[in-house]
Amino acid sequence: MSGGTELSNSKSSTINFKFREKLDSVIEGFRHNYCYQCGACVADCPAGAYSERFNPRLIMLKAILGFEEELIAPESEIWECTNCYTCSERCPQDVRPIDVIIAMKNLCIREGKAPEAIGRIYDSVLRSGITTKISSLIERRRAEFGLAPLKEYPIEDIRKILEGD
Ligand code: SF4
Ligand code: SF4
Repeated sequence: MSGGTELSNSKSSTINFKFREKLDSVIEGFRHNYCYQCGACVADCPAGAYSERFNPRLIMLKAILGFEEELIAPESEIWECTNCYTCSERCPQDVRPIDVIIAMKNLCIREGKAPEAIGRIYDSVLRSGITTKISSLIERRRAEFGLAPLKEYPIEDIRKILEGD
């Protein structure tokens, strides 16, 4: 299992309890506050199996203690999460760690603190509704293979969802 099992292994950071309030504003139910550090979410976490520093139990502890500087950053370990939802199935407290992690990723995007590649994908979806630009070459190849032209995306609706309007 992952090596980063104790908080003392993490980088030093100022404890900031206001971070709870910030998280509570982007995630329904305040679930992270109910984490009692049992570690059930760690055992089958695929990201934890491959990353020395990734540990959903510790991420919940850092969230509760307000390690904002460490978590809301392009180099944060939250970006190693695969969004598989196994932790949510294992957690006896219904904390749903993945939802907390996604909320923190959303905060990173909102504050311009996501990794550059993620920011580029976000901008592309905001602009065109899709993550990858469709070139004229791809359109020609689709036609050669008898595939239908790609449909128009409801870009205004997508923007509303992304921007929370
Ligand atoms: S969703 Fe949960 S179990 Fe899956 S990688 Fe992320 S933290 Fe680990
Ligand atoms: S399984 Fe739930 S209560 Fe236990 S450490 Fe993970 S998030 Fe916290």
